[in-house]
Amino acid sequence: MTNQIDPAQAEAYARQQGGVRGGGVPVDFDGFDFSGFSGGGPQAAGGASSWGSFKDIFSGIFSGAQPQPKPRGPQPGTDLEYQATVDFWTAIRGGQARMQVHRQETCPTCHGQAQTGGPMQCPECNGSGQVTQMGGRMKFNIPCPRCNGTGRISNDCPTCHGEGVVDRTETVEFRIKPGTRDGQRIRLQGKGNAGLNGGAAGDLYLIVRTGTHQVFTRVGDDIHITVPVTVAEASLGAKVDVPTIDGRAQLKIPPGTQSGQKLRLRERGVENAQRPGQRGDQIVTVEVVVPTLQDERSREIMRELAKLNPQDPRMELFNKM
Ligand SMILES: [Zn+2]
Ligand SMILES: [Zn+2]
Repeated sequence: MTNQIDPAQAEAYARQQGGVRGGGVPVDFDGFDFSGFSGGGPQAAGGASSWGSFKDIFSGIFSGAQPQPKPRGPQPGTDLEYQATVDFWTAIRGGQARMQVHRQETCPTCHGQAQTGGPMQCPECNGSGQVTQMGGRMKFNIPCPRCNGTGRISNDCPTCHGEGVVDRTETVEFRIKPGTRDGQRIRLQGKGNAGLNGGAAGDLYLIVRTGTHQVFTRVGDDIHITVPVTVAEASLGAKVDVPTIDGRAQLKIPPGTQSGQKLRLRERGVENAQRPGQRGDQIVTVEVVVPTLQDERSREIMRELAKLNPQDPRMELFNKM
């Protein structure tokens, strides 16, 4: 028995700690036999006037320090969200893609139980459930904070340190539907974090980021492209080959096409992911290339052409002023 309580000091300590409960009834420790019990401090002296009520108060206080096993029912794992960059062509044509994700997996050592074997003796109190604390010149036995007074602590799994799950880097493969758009979400069921105690795993959500292309710009299911044409092609009209996502296609340039004008190649865009067989268009922006005239004869022809076609392309601007 380590209690060496001087009743007078204990009373003073109790008052100082504000521990005098019970409506300010003066506490008198005289006559109590403190050697009869092994725990608790003077803060438990809540105006008790007999040994019986004293003991009741103590047991009431100690009930809060009784072993409280953590509720360990099944807990579902959390969902994960990742951005998955998919190259331009895979997003259009579909295919397999893969990426690395960090996820929590059920611990292989304890199979998610978080503990290995039964509880073990608390090293803090050596299994007694009590530790000694100094209060001035007094010593008090208090419930061991490490084991909550139980004398035993759980035997945490060494692999997961009592978590039940371990962090893993995993390569996940997923299917990309033809026509997958930028920002589209793909759900991989059960590929999120592992659950605890038999709880279901969360889901993995992939936000698709589609890659770009040097020539084609994708806007939804449409493909945009800028195609240079000569002055002759633009003014006289022509049939020119333009790149599409299927290869070459012929585009008719109407006579008198202006630079910046947009022409449409119907259903040469991307197949819709939701409505297979339905395709977007290819939008061609015409860019008229002005020839650099190298010889006098060409310049002469150009001057002649201008004389034959007197135009003021800036007239509209001044008319709007
Ligand atoms: Zn302990
Ligand atoms: Zn484990």
